Amino acid sequence: MTFRENANIGSGRASRGGGGGGGLAVGGGIGTLLLALVIMLFGGDPGAILGGGSQAPSQAENVELSECQSGADANENVDCRMKGGMASLEQYWSQAYPKAQPASATIFSGAVTTQCGQATSQVGPFYCPLDQKIYLDTAFFQQLEGQLGASGGSLGELYVLGHEYGHHIQNYTGALQASQQDPRGPESGAVRVELQADCFAGAWIANASGPEGLLEPPTKEQIQSALSAAAAVGDDSIQERMQGQVTPHAWTHGSSEQRVGWFNRGYESKDPNQCDVLNAGSVDDF
Ligand SMILES: [Zn+2]
Repeated sequence: MTFRENANIGSGRASRGGGGGGGLAVGGGIGTLLLALVIMLFGGDPGAILGGGSQAPSQAENVELSECQSGADANENVDCRMKGGMASLEQYWSQAYPKAQPASATIFSGAVTTQCGQATSQVGPFYCPLDQKIYLDTAFFQQLEGQLGASGGSLGELYVLGHEYGHHIQNYTGALQASQQDPRGPESGAVRVELQADCFAGAWIANASGPEGLLEPPTKEQIQSALSAAAAVGDDSIQERMQGQVTPHAWTHGSSEQRVGWFNRGYESKDPNQCDVLNAGSVDDF
């Protein structure tokens, strides 16, 4: 169990998105490159971004998740869990960083059209700063547990959502720019931005499971599962799996140890001000 059974999640800004499935044109060259720079990936395959950044999202096909109203619904169903997570994230960040307008989430299958262009599920969960939306195919969570070897569980899923919402906050603080200006390397702006998003996710989960929050206090096992999800998407783990060796100069998200470390720092301190990775002397100073 993750959500309080009677928590009200009806306000969560999440929908199931249609569109993007038909008429996908495979882009390439500059279109793909620009798009890869614009969106914030969770740690997937940038080659799966298809370009075509000028198309408007097909809002009309979005379906509201009206069946998701309570914490019990969120505990049972992954779509409702994402809606519940969005309700909780909005509740938290509207107080912690009131300057940010609420983000919304679109759950899709296969492919999706966004203001940042079209993408397939292979990119993994991502945030598009242009339409201020989080996009995710919940099939990624099975991949996280299977292929990536994490025992993510429902708290691991919420960590992923909280990380993406962290990018939304960074869109308002200006931190996202560091990612564009200094896109790879072990101490790069990109890695610092990603680790800050992990730290923000930890701070949110800690606060959201407090007395006023929608989440139940996590068990030790649930925290371990969430941490294993963070470890699974570390650049060193992914490189080891994909290419059989670790090449830090190509890092974009930080190592497994760093991702776990910064998540923990946010979780233990419960304070997003402790997440200033951008100005930390080293990304290992968690
Ligand atoms: Zn990210």
